[in-house]
This record gives sequence, structure tokens and C-alpha cells, in this order.
Amino acid sequence: MTVALVTGIMGQDGSYLAERLVAEGVEIHGLVRPGDAALPNLKENCPGLVVHEGDLRDGARLEALVLDLAPDEVYNLAGLSSVAQSWEMPVLAAEVTGLAVARLLQASWSAQERTGRAVRFLQASSAEIFGNSDRVPQDENTPLCPTSPYGAAKAYAHHLVGVYRARGLHASSTILFNHESPRRPDSFVTRKITAGVAAIAAGTATELVLGNLDVQRDWGWAPDYVDAMVRAVRHDRADDFVVATGKARSVRDFVTVAFSHVGIDDWAPFVRTDPALVRPVDAYMQVGDPLKAHRDLGWRTTVSFDEIVGRMVDHDTRRDVRRGFRNG
Ligand code: NAP
Repeated sequence: MTVALVTGIMGQDGSYLAERLVAEGVEIHGLVRPGDAALPNLKENCPGLVVHEGDLRDGARLEALVLDLAPDEVYNLAGLSSVAQSWEMPVLAAEVTGLAVARLLQASWSAQERTGRAVRFLQASSAEIFGNSDRVPQDENTPLCPTSPYGAAKAYAHHLVGVYRARGLHASSTILFNHESPRRPDSFVTRKITAGVAAIAAGTATELVLGNLDVQRDWGWAPDYVDAMVRAVRHDRADDFVVATGKARSVRDFVTVAFSHVGIDDWAPFVRTDPALVRPVDAYMQVGDPLKAHRDLGWRTTVSFDEIVGRMVDHDTRRDVRRGFRNG
């Protein structure tokens, strides 16, 4: 039986990954920060899940866990996932999004050496490693030029994955462009939009306050991105893979589709922009070229942009009456 260790299992991607691996019959172990209130929901959805309490900053705990389990697959999904948060806590971002990856890679290498069995490692890398790239779309050969503490920490981790791959570990990076679902935390702009639109449609709010509406991102469906991670781990050759839809959409597009989903075409009276919400340095346009993932992994997206937005709005509309997995 395949044994997998997943960090960040309580997050958006981690929870989808856990459900997928349990369905495949994988013995799955998850690193969880102590006291997470949503844990009973995850356990209910993932029978057999073994939970290990711990923090990515606890190097000794992390190393002991990997060495004890000697898993076949390690998925590193944990970390500060928000660029905005990393500006508030740059040192924490370096520790959990950068340094912890060094510990996990070294522990995976040691476990492989000790048991003689391969450990396959997957790093959830990010489009933020490209920062404000002048290359559009970005692919696996685009130079790294991060513009935030989050991006810089991810860039360090990304390089390190390449270093351990060269050493002989089956270590892959999926360079993930933005991906969404009803499990996206409230702090992200997409979820803020869908929750705000649902509240306006229900008459419980009158205004949605946003930052820069012209920023462009490449938005996909989270379970599809988890599928790319599993495909990368199971692929013969470890490598870097851009995981993206290849289509850029602006925050304005997202707002338009969300309001249209609840029957509001003229949304201008409901939306106010606040310069205070514009980030110090923001990548203006992120769009990925997923050709390599298509070609080598046979990976495809399955849910359109409009459908993603619609599913999130629908979830937020039902939110008051039916509690969801994590955010409502
Ligand atoms: P998420 O929902 O924010 O989940 C992140 C997880 O990391 C959470 O479960 C969190 O635990 C855990 N975590 C944070 N700090 C930790 C620490 N010190 N020790 C242990 N666990 C810690 O993020 P996601 O959207 O699933 O993203 C998964 C990965 O993909 C992340 O590494 C993210 O940077 C990367 N990524 C995501 C996107 C995207 O669009 N979603 C794009 C590019 C890259 P708590 O639940 O206790 O907070």
C-alpha cells in the first residue's frame, strides 16, 4: 500500500488531495496544526486519515515524522499561502514557506537512503516566483523574479527542489497559478467577491470594497490542480510543471461574472475601490503556459472560469443554511 504524507492537509488543496488519496486506497498521514476546528470535518470525509499534530517551524518534529514514516510520497502543501500576509510577516513566510522545505527535502533524502526505497516529493510552488515577469505567458523557463516575501520564499524552495532532484530525489515542483473553490479562505479576493456578491443578492450587504480591479490572473479549479500534483508525483521523471489554464482574466472580469450569476448586470453601484487595498508591489499580469503539463502529464483543466465563479457564488449563497467544509 502506498503511504503518503501531506502537509497543509487542512487547507483548500490539502483537503481535496486527502479525499482523492483516500479514495485511491492510499494510507494517508496529515500534518495538522494543533487545535484546528475543521479537523472533524476532514476526518469524516477521509476515513483512515492519520493525523499528526505539528508545526512546520518545528524542524526536529518534521524530520522525525518523515524518517519514522518513510512515506512513498510527500506532498508539501503547507505554508503561508497569502502574499498579503507575507508582507505583514516576512520572517514567518521565510520559515514556513522556505526553510521548512529544506527540512522536508533533507528528511525525505535521509529516509530514502535509510530504507533504500524511493521517496517522491511534491512541492506546491507558485506563479509568484515569476513576480512581475515581462514574459507572457510564463513557463518553466521563465526567469524567477519574485516581488513579495511570499514569492521570494517560494523561489528559494523551488530552487532547492531542483537541487535535491539533481542529487537523486524524485522531487517535482508544480508551479501553481491561482486556483479557487468554495474552500478558498475568506481572506482571498476571489472569495471576498463571491461572499460579497451573495450577501448583496440576499440583501444583507450593500457594498463590496476591492483594490485594483485591473490586475490579471490565471484562475483554475482547485481539484484540477491537485490532480496535476498527483500526476507529477506518479510521473516517471521528476520535473517542474506549470499548472495553469493559459487564460488571463482581470479582477473586474471575476466581479462581472459573479454579479451576472445572481442576475445583476450593472454592478458599478455596489462596488467601491479603496487604494488602501492595493498591494505595495503586485504582479500586474500572471498567466501560465501549461503545455508541458498537458504533454508530459496528460493533465487538463475540467472547469471553466464562469463555472468556477458560479460554483463559489452558489456555495456562498447557501452558506447561511448549510455549513461547508471549512469556511462556511
Ligand atoms: P491554504 O488553504 O492556505 O492552506 C495552507 C495550509 O498550510 C493550511 O492548512 C495551514 O494550516 C497550513 N500551515 C500554514 N502554516 C503552517 C505551519 N506553520 N505549520 C503547519 N501548517 C501550516 O493554501 P492552499 O490554497 O491549499 O495552497 C496549498 C499550497 O499551494 C500552498 O503552499 C500555497 O502557497 C500553494 N499555492 C496555492 C495557490 C492557490 O491559488 N491556492 C497558488 C499557488 C501556490 P491552518 O489550516 O492551520 O491555517
